[in-house]
Amino acid sequence: MGKVYLVGGGPGDPGLLTLKGAECLRRADLILYDGLVNPMLLRHGHAAVERTCRAEGPLGRHIPQEEINRRLVEAAQAGKTVVRLKGGDPFIFGRGSEEAAALAAAGIPFEVVPGITAATGAAVYTGISLTHRDHASAVAFITGHEDPNKPETALDYNSLAHFPGTLVFYMGLHRLEAISSALIAAGKPSHTPVCVVCRATQPLQRTVTGTLDDIAKLAANAGLHPPSLVIVGDCVTVREQARWFEDRPLFGQVIGITRPEDQADDAALKAYELGALPVMLPMIEIAPPDNWSAVDAVLSRLNEFDWIVFTSANGVRGLLNRLWQSGGDVRSLANAKLACIGPATAAVLEEFSLRADLVPSEYRAEALAAALKPHASGKRVLWARASRGRDVLPTELIAAGASLEQLVVYQNRDVTELPRPELDRLERGELDWIGLSSPSIARSLARLLTSAARAQLGVRTKLACISPVTTEAAQSVGLTIAAEATEYTWDGLFQAMIAAR
Ligand code: SAH
Repeated sequence: MGKVYLVGGGPGDPGLLTLKGAECLRRADLILYDGLVNPMLLRHGHAAVERTCRAEGPLGRHIPQEEINRRLVEAAQAGKTVVRLKGGDPFIFGRGSEEAAALAAAGIPFEVVPGITAATGAAVYTGISLTHRDHASAVAFITGHEDPNKPETALDYNSLAHFPGTLVFYMGLHRLEAISSALIAAGKPSHTPVCVVCRATQPLQRTVTGTLDDIAKLAANAGLHPPSLVIVGDCVTVREQARWFEDRPLFGQVIGITRPEDQADDAALKAYELGALPVMLPMIEIAPPDNWSAVDAVLSRLNEFDWIVFTSANGVRGLLNRLWQSGGDVRSLANAKLACIGPATAAVLEEFSLRADLVPSEYRAEALAAALKPHASGKRVLWARASRGRDVLPTELIAAGASLEQLVVYQNRDVTELPRPELDRLERGELDWIGLSSPSIARSLARLLTSAARAQLGVRTKLACISPVTTEAAQSVGLTIAAEATEYTWDGLFQAMIAAR
């Protein structure tokens, strides 16, 4: 018998998952997640995943609640560890408790992991304390889904209007007019402050404030849409004193991340940290060499080299993972000094408990060659490289008298097409930036752009390049560049976007 974990995924910021929730995802064989959950959370797991939605749409298949319950039961009976991942907290206005009851009835072991609910997420990320001591001594979570004009409504607006604290309405956006009028009619002052928070805790969070009197009109004018939360009470007035999230340097910017899909996590998380929404647009893919025979032959005589040079994280992983898989370990590198093109590459060496002996102060092939040259004469140098790249390093090192062996430890290939939902966003003009982090990525972008996407470049969407070499490659294929990093890393790319805002 397996087990089911009902896990709260929080309101959207991928950092707002509990450690226990992350641990459950790591152990899961199957993850069923609902439409409110940020798919970034899935990177904690290795399971088969499936998205469930309440409505038919582009994001997943609509699955009726009974079918979800049945699938949870069947998977657990088949011995699987299942995570049912839900937005916010599973027991607050989700149907988590019904799912738990169905599991209990079927005799399936289960646990429930709480999550940060939308109300606290939205409040904190807009700078509102729902229980500010000067303004509220209580807080109520209310469903706004019910129609207050219906006689059989379960909500007692008379009580709500006289509640001594903050009112938070979930699912209330489309009934905002009715909710406000009902509260006013029941005696709540029409000048009571109200805040509507759309996509709370996410880079595209939007906040509209007003009073019970005018909030419905203001929210409609602003074009807010679900998921949105309505906060009613005097605590809304102190929001400006404690706002922080919306002041992040790239808040609200949508940024295309062009790194290979399985290596985009760091850049994507950094984007979130700066307040931006990452959109995955992988332009190249990384693959192992077609066969390993050339690499294996070199692995058996690594002790012959004076220097081993790495110009990418993939180069480090390609060589060292193969060394491990073929039965060796890092002791084979004991004779060699290690050179890296930059700190990101050196950081991957550190994952293998290896320290780089040389990292140039500028992260480009020319600088690496210049730094290596004084050590190169008569030395045997191994370059763990990609299937394609620039010739600066070999030319310079050979000229400096090194005996250089170039070993392809991974392939760097163009993808043949961009993922459709992301390309749609680009074509609709929703991207503010695309970061280009290598010449091959720049060339790949130029080749993969549809005419609708190309029309957005320079109009709505700007391009930022990681280094002058990448800028040159981009310009040579007709792309216009709006910003260039001074530090040649993804962090540097984001800094360039900030500077160019
Ligand atoms: N279990 C969830 C709530 C599910 S009901 C929780 O604890 O948060 C769905 C409603 O939650 C939405 O209609 C909306 O009112 C609110 N909601 C969920 N995520 C939200 C978000 N990121 N921003 C604003 N409201 C959100």
